Amino acid sequence: MTRFIFVTGGVVSSLGKGLATASLGALLQARGYKLRVRKFDPYLNIDPGTMSPHEHGEVFVTDDGAETDLDLGHYERFTGVPARRSDSVTTGRVYSEVLQSERRGDYLGGTVQVIPHVTDAIKQFATADLAGEDFVLCEIGGTVGDIESLPFLEAIRQLGNELGRARAMFIHLTLVPYLKAAEELKTKPTQHSVKELQRSGIQPEMLVCRCERPIPETERRKIAQFCNIRSQAVIQALDVETIYDVPLAYHAEGYDTEVLRHFNLPHDGEPDLSTWAEITRRTREPEGEVSIAVVGKYMGRKDAYKSLAEALAHGGIANNVRVKLHWIPSEIFEESDAAARLSEVHGILVPGGFGSRGSEGKIRAVTFAREQKVPYFGICFGMQMAIIEAARNLAHLPGASSSEFGPCETPVVGLMTEWMRGNQLERRAAGGHLGGTMRLGAYPAKLAADSLLASIYGATEINERHRHRYEVNVTYQKVLEAAGVHFSGMSPDGLLPEAIERSDHPWFVGVQFHPELRSRPFEPHPLFRSFIAAALEKSRLL
Ligand code: GLN
Repeated sequence: MTRFIFVTGGVVSSLGKGLATASLGALLQARGYKLRVRKFDPYLNIDPGTMSPHEHGEVFVTDDGAETDLDLGHYERFTGVPARRSDSVTTGRVYSEVLQSERRGDYLGGTVQVIPHVTDAIKQFATADLAGEDFVLCEIGGTVGDIESLPFLEAIRQLGNELGRARAMFIHLTLVPYLKAAEELKTKPTQHSVKELQRSGIQPEMLVCRCERPIPETERRKIAQFCNIRSQAVIQALDVETIYDVPLAYHAEGYDTEVLRHFNLPHDGEPDLSTWAEITRRTREPEGEVSIAVVGKYMGRKDAYKSLAEALAHGGIANNVRVKLHWIPSEIFEESDAAARLSEVHGILVPGGFGSRGSEGKIRAVTFAREQKVPYFGICFGMQMAIIEAARNLAHLPGASSSEFGPCETPVVGLMTEWMRGNQLERRAAGGHLGGTMRLGAYPAKLAADSLLASIYGATEINERHRHRYEVNVTYQKVLEAAGVHFSGMSPDGLLPEAIERSDHPWFVGVQFHPELRSRPFEPHPLFRSFIAAALEKSRLL
């Protein structure tokens, strides 16, 4: 029997609804349950693929090539369950399906309306593509009271009603702020938020209350009474030091126990949380520290490189060290010397990126890393910049560039116009649509047996997630190899370079894919493990 847990949020945004949902997933999993975690976003974009990371944070990519909200990254990192296209639904996607059905004539002449047609489509998304999971956790993006969220609230209300209490549960996340002047925790915003939810016909069965200070028993009882909830189901969710403390901290407050109680499932025993305990121990008591410079474009917003920051932290967990990140906007290297900012760091990483702004600065960071033998990790755009750097500075191709920046003399990186996806040929043309048309999702690659990469992976066949439109141009492979660039990973048909490395350098790796999307705290990605190990080595030499 599949049970549905709907998570909504109130009072303010950014309360950590994604983490709370992901952590519940981790806790239920630790009790042996099988689950999926889904996100419903109220915006009109079909997917976040076309949204700026400045505004919306990172675009997370699934194995099956969906561009999704970054919360799906949290879900994967906490549960290890690979997300799928069916786990990410936006208003735009719902409407687009409804409108296509209307054009096909599926509604047989009926008037197409939000209720029931849009809400039916939402319910279909919520219940589609399942295979006997015990739980489906559905997080509703946005905050109750938003006009945009209404169809989603109505749909989950209906679904809750159809499934009944035994198969559905509503959890609401709120804020219990501390007012310094009054020296008090305030429960009123929570009461109002629950009222707002009740106006949509939803009675939450659990409240997860984010707070900076412990909620006294009296206040907890007050919340329970006003909101019509058992007081044990008012979960105190105190701020924690790192996100990986959340499962243990919320478990201690009865989070998963109360969920199981709601569903009448056994809840006396303790889940096995030893991996989480070990992860928090390692993050709290590292044996050393390494400094990594991330040289990129979207440095103003922490969430723009969420998976990357997490994967680097996982590399630290694997090596028992703390990873200190220096976020450096690459443009500063276009005016000032790279050495001034980079001579103290133990590793340099150029992450994924788009567009020419700041690219020259990234290329300078590559030169510095290559010449000074600082471990270098180029991811996607970062590999492309490493190629341009080698072409210009070592292969005597001063006009080398990427056609992403406009027409150029020597396009060592160029637009991909066709490639194989399994047995199917994908084609793209310059000037086509931007949405969902990149080379997206998991593709296999072959690694050269004698490469550093093969030794890091312990394999010569890998499968990694991609998100790119441009590609290193194989026609320049020979001249780049002569300049010391070893093409250590290729697509199975040998046409698309997937990874490069330098043998005259302690650790210089570029990959066309995004390994950060597959890293987990309990299973750090081998490339991040190895990169941090190399940085540790460098720190001992400095
Ligand atoms: N802009 C580059 C491309 O489209 C790199 C993309 C990326 O780093 N994700 O190929």
